[in-house]
Amino acid sequence: MTKKIKIGNLFIGGGEKIAVQSMATYKTCTEKAALQAEELESAGCDILRFSVLDNDDAAAFSAIKKRVKMPLVADIHFDYKLALKAIDGGADKIRINPGNIGAIAGVRAVAEAAKANGVPIRVGSNTGSIEKDFLLKYGRNEVSLGESALKQVAILEKYGVHDIVVSVKASSVPLTVKAYEYVAAKTDYPLHLGVTEAGTEYGGTIKNAAALGALLIRGVGDTIRVSLSADPVREVVAAKTLLSALEKSGTGANLVACPTCGRCEWDCMAFAAKTEKYLATVNKPIKVAVMGCVVNGPGEAQDADVGVAGAKGGCIIFSHGKVLKTVKREDLEREFFAEIDKCIL
Ligand code: SF4
Repeated sequence: MTKKIKIGNLFIGGGEKIAVQSMATYKTCTEKAALQAEELESAGCDILRFSVLDNDDAAAFSAIKKRVKMPLVADIHFDYKLALKAIDGGADKIRINPGNIGAIAGVRAVAEAAKANGVPIRVGSNTGSIEKDFLLKYGRNEVSLGESALKQVAILEKYGVHDIVVSVKASSVPLTVKAYEYVAAKTDYPLHLGVTEAGTEYGGTIKNAAALGALLIRGVGDTIRVSLSADPVREVVAAKTLLSALEKSGTGANLVACPTCGRCEWDCMAFAAKTEKYLATVNKPIKVAVMGCVVNGPGEAQDADVGVAGAKGGCIIFSHGKVLKTVKREDLEREFFAEIDKCIL
């Protein structure tokens, strides 16, 4: 079990619900970034990170915090003074790399300010930021990635910081899994899981699902970011879908849908897509099935809280394998979504 730490109004680690993170894509001090924060919060984002490039960005946290409830993270490279300013402005967590923040006095100042304000710090490595010594000693692998991150942890601990989150990211799925397993065996700080530079929405989601799924199913990981070259709302949707597929607690609806075959006589695929959209905002762990035909549908989706299967001239709506009603295709959407609503109540 990892250590439980507090980030703003949220706890991660220690068996808490796995928090979904994303990162704003607009410059932090702009109205677009604040609007994006609101949009991401509505989509189910639990923690949002912003890059801090200058004083205006660092000062923007107090204004954004008035518009959203989720904890905000300041991502800082090179200038420790920006970290101090972001903490002053109300950032709930800081992401730094002590190796690139400059003189050790700067790292110490950030550590002391974070500690005084109850602000946790995320440190970590990725395949582009492995410490030279470790790279020479071990090569580019899980050991050098893990040891680079653990060295940063040791620096923070030296200055009395014990609310730490650790990440070890690679763009390779097997290396990401090995690196997180390596650090999980060596530290009990919560782990932030992610695949770096994962790619576009389709390929990147698969990479993230493969790496994060392999880890989460074994209980490794406390917070995740499904990083994608796409709208960050898609990251949140993918993360939530992944957690619900893994049947993690506190997640939303799980949609099962058949691939269809020659027995299907209606547009089951389009209806599955429509249902998926409808379920995106559902925060209850219900199971919903959209099946092509009555021959196999209700039987195969017996554990669904509510399901639909195509029948001659219409569809049947069922629950746990039992038929609730037969509906005409034109009434299906209204009738089916009303049954989903009943499950949510
Ligand atoms: S549920 Fe029916 S339509 Fe869907 S794959 Fe099975 S047999 Fe084919």
